[in-house]
Amino acid sequence: MTRPHRTTPGCLACRQTPEHSRLCPSTDEEAIWYLQHPLPGGQRDWTSAGIRYTGAPARRRAVRALMAATHWARMHDSPELPMSPGLLIKHILAELGSTSRRTARVGYTTDFLTTLDCTCDPWRCVHDYDSPTGEPSPEWLTGPGIDPDLLITVTLVAVEIRWAQIWQTYWFADAGGAVNLAIDSIPETSPPGISVACHRRWHDVCPGDTKPRPPDTARTPCPCPCHDTGTPS
Ligand SMILES: [Zn+2]
Ligand SMILES: [Zn+2]
Ligand SMILES: [Zn+2]
Ligand SMILES: [Zn+2]
Repeated sequence: MTRPHRTTPGCLACRQTPEHSRLCPSTDEEAIWYLQHPLPGGQRDWTSAGIRYTGAPARRRAVRALMAATHWARMHDSPELPMSPGLLIKHILAELGSTSRRTARVGYTTDFLTTLDCTCDPWRCVHDYDSPTGEPSPEWLTGPGIDPDLLITVTLVAVEIRWAQIWQTYWFADAGGAVNLAIDSIPETSPPGISVACHRRWHDVCPGDTKPRPPDTARTPCPCPCHDTGTPS
């Protein structure tokens, strides 16, 4: 049951009603994100593609709590992953194409979040505005007027890509297919000449030096600080 509502709710991104503001990401098919939040050392982009699951504070709180419970596996020597997230991660890596070779870690949750799979325009979902205060509240899912048949559970998977000067984590909801929810970007530059292993923080598998670049013939020591003490950090 969807309760009738008197007015069109404001857009979750631009707050306008009934139209969108000129620069609203909902009207821009190229817009990747609708909201940015700071992270320590970087930022999180909440994607337009995932707004159905993240478009209100209560929904983002639930997603953040689940993110914090992620199990991480290093993409070194084909990590063992449980079947269900494993297949989805494999699918995502295939979609990423050559970028997937930069994967440092993959993550998955065994916990799940309960969310609402309503038929609203995701930019103007009426359900988050049905709480008594008119504001999204943490109790919105259990409030009266929420049809239990609309409740679904989703787990998360994550792919962490190590670029030359930045870490990026792509978060997906496993909702009968991968839905990108957020992209975390944290700039970090490695010392020049660092090994691939140390660049990806796989310090314990770095041999301590790297293959010479022709015409050099001697292996060059890996400049990662983890080798300074002789023990991986
Ligand atoms: Zn809008
Ligand atoms: Zn809705
Ligand atoms: Zn290192
Ligand atoms: Zn190293």
